Amino acid sequence: MAAETKAGSFDVIIIGSGPGGYVTAIRASQLGMTVAIVERELLGGICLNWGCIPTKALLKSGEVYEQLDHLADYGLSVEKRGFDFDKVVQRSRKVSAQLNAGVAFLMKKHGVEVVEGAATLTKGSPAPNVVVALKAGGSRTLIGKSVIVATGARARTIPAIGLEPDGERVWTYREALVPKSAPKSLIVIGSGAIGLEFASFFRALGSDVTVVEALPRILPVEDEEVSKAALKAFEKRGLKFRVPANVKKLTKTKSGVAVEIEAGGKAETLEAEVAIVAVGIVGNVEDIGLEALGVKIERTHIVTDRHGATGVPGLYAIGDVAGPPWLAHKASHEGVHCIEHIAGLKPTNIDSPIPGCTYSTPQIASVGLTEAQAREQGREPKVGRFPFRVNGKAIASGETDGFVKTVFDGKTGALIGAHMIGAEVTEMIQGYVIAMTCEATEAELQGAIFPHPTMSEAMHEASLDAYGLVLHI
Ligand code: NAD
Repeated sequence: MAAETKAGSFDVIIIGSGPGGYVTAIRASQLGMTVAIVERELLGGICLNWGCIPTKALLKSGEVYEQLDHLADYGLSVEKRGFDFDKVVQRSRKVSAQLNAGVAFLMKKHGVEVVEGAATLTKGSPAPNVVVALKAGGSRTLIGKSVIVATGARARTIPAIGLEPDGERVWTYREALVPKSAPKSLIVIGSGAIGLEFASFFRALGSDVTVVEALPRILPVEDEEVSKAALKAFEKRGLKFRVPANVKKLTKTKSGVAVEIEAGGKAETLEAEVAIVAVGIVGNVEDIGLEALGVKIERTHIVTDRHGATGVPGLYAIGDVAGPPWLAHKASHEGVHCIEHIAGLKPTNIDSPIPGCTYSTPQIASVGLTEAQAREQGREPKVGRFPFRVNGKAIASGETDGFVKTVFDGKTGALIGAHMIGAEVTEMIQGYVIAMTCEATEAELQGAIFPHPTMSEAMHEASLDAYGLVLHI
């Protein structure tokens, strides 16, 4: 039996220190609670260490490198173009390490006790007890008035058809972040955010990339016009697509992988050095003792009410483990809401719109309803569009691909959706998120002053266009 070290009592114990868990811990501390956070791996979770952040670092390297192809367009030249793949990866790891240390600093600053180890829940009162198998050896029992599960999610694999990482030729996002070299050829299975970000990065470094998507269009959750424009833009960069195509089997060959697909009723085999599996994610619900406590789990996610309550007294769940959308900012938002609810406050921001961003080249960003969803809901949408090709700043920057699309409720004039593709749209979408959070209508967006010259002027124009008032076309 492992030695039991000192027990501890807290107002709240959080399991998992991703953007859901650690932000909740800070808010709990602000609310005057005593807090412990349990982490089995690295502070900051997948987002900071193996997801959002290190991918953005890699993508930036890829983007800068690809831009070198276009130096002449800007009247510039360099003598020799090249990259050191090791250094590209090292930079990405360094960025993660910096932010990981940042979370450790924040935990200390807010008096949050960090417990390193793997947590299991056992019966307790008022909330389940948290038994931690400590990283340093032994175990420790933590007793909390409330326990929040924020254990996140991981890549979905399909071992039955060979979609399972082997660390060598079949990768999930995790292996794809730290490869020894950029593969000469690559098959990416799945065209969601993860698949397209890696496809975009490796293409920028010269890999021959083919993306296989089972549904009829890439980025299937985005507005149809955006999916179409994205496909065109990616193909222009030399990416290849098989859409729709079902992966039947992945096998390892002498030199790489063979992916059997079925497209348009025909069987075909694609070959490459490496395959990346990006076919969605599953919640980390195993080995925490959830079943024994009677926690309801549906399709690998913990079922909760609007406040994160699981139905087991004192036990809550937030973020990826509590279901889609699987986004860091949704996890943080849910965590803050949950802890404010536990503290007896009445959070009012429960239904805030959740933006989604894909940081490929081109970037894609959206919030709210697509045009098709608005029609399905009988919103009689008024739709506006504005292309970057006639925007002054976009022309000056040489970033004229893409457009902005707005969707307004035909009856009330409320902005109910916005969809963008092009350079820096992941930074611009926030303007529409604030507008939607404040329930802005077309009148406010049309009356707002957008700085000139900026690409954001296209956001103004798309709002004007929905009502036949566009100025620059
Ligand atoms: P996803 O669900 O977004 O996309 C997976 C895609 O794979 C889907 O389009 C699906 O149709 C396709 N697919 C599934 N099975 C397939 C098969 N057998 N053959 C071919 N295609 C198949 O999942 P993801 O890209 O893995 O991302 C997981 C989650 O993480 C998403 O919710 C995503 O939004 C989130 N995420 C967000 C960001 C970001 O905000 N930039 C980055 C990474 C991940």
